[in-house]
Amino acid sequence: MNKRGIVLTPPDFSGVDWKSGLAELRLNTLGVHSGGGANHDVLRQLGATASEEFRRDFRSAGIECEYEVHAAASLLPVSLFESRPEYFALSFREESRSATANWCVTNPDVPAILAANAGRLAEKLRSTTHRYYFWGADREDAYCHCRECSKYTASELNLLGVNAIADGIRRVDPLAEVACLAYLGCYEVPERVEPRENVFLEFAPYVRCYHHALNDPACAVNRRFFNAFRELGAFFGMRNTHILEYWLDSSLFSGYRKPARRPFVRPELLRRDLDAYAGAGIRNITSFAVYMDGEYFSAHGTAALEDYAAALREFLPDDGSVPGAGAVRPDSENQVPCY
Ligand SMILES: [Zn+2]
Ligand SMILES: [Zn+2]
Repeated sequence: MNKRGIVLTPPDFSGVDWKSGLAELRLNTLGVHSGGGANHDVLRQLGATASEEFRRDFRSAGIECEYEVHAAASLLPVSLFESRPEYFALSFREESRSATANWCVTNPDVPAILAANAGRLAEKLRSTTHRYYFWGADREDAYCHCRECSKYTASELNLLGVNAIADGIRRVDPLAEVACLAYLGCYEVPERVEPRENVFLEFAPYVRCYHHALNDPACAVNRRFFNAFRELGAFFGMRNTHILEYWLDSSLFSGYRKPARRPFVRPELLRRDLDAYAGAGIRNITSFAVYMDGEYFSAHGTAALEDYAAALREFLPDDGSVPGAGAVRPDSENQVPCY
């Protein structure tokens, strides 16, 4: 199946019938996100969206339901910090270990703790696609740099944690596949760690440029992200890779402060990005659409959302085919005017 998705937080359901909206737009996968920033109680933030009833309701309209969450506080509870500070990360920027970053994954006890807690969380946040997205802390210096961990890159420490999480989730859902998120400091290809066979790449090009297409060679910002996409895709396998984009992320384009602004991504740019992704063999694409609630649509209308859905239907059609590279190949290398 080609997956055409959208990622929302619980407040975005205010004043919008997203179930009918997604069904009409033929977006077939909803990702529910508990929010970015500081570590938090994922289940509390998700509220009713974490329930079996919620998932059943969306599924009855043909929409799959997944959870995309920064789950550090569930995977290694802060309550352990006082008795077991050595389980937590020692950042190279800090003098002592931090309860609000990730974990010391080379500590021999830690992988089993992550696995057990990931299994418990997966039992509550059942993904209807068997694909799970349980991420670490939402901060760049989240990874441990103790004597043992310091030989690994952030990408490798991330993958070591993901492997443990994947082992744990598989115990409660034998069909589980688990995302390794490429985000913030984790765009390098791991060299010292191999992914488990049920781990796939989730590529989230945060702080990429939206004036230029991802593969525009004239954009120095995006060159880094496009190279990372190709190298990571080759390492993990493109076909199973999940793209998490920001094209519709009003919260990002509003500087994470309301009032919500309309994302300035142009339809031509979106199509050229999709050409780059789908042309590389990608079948799973979603975008944050945080802040797209009833108030947003009253102020800005539905054009950005409708255009996004139409472009995804074009590049990732229902018959499962992929148009292949070059569907919107530019006449010149720099087809999308920038400023
Ligand atoms: Zn460590
Ligand atoms: Zn640029």
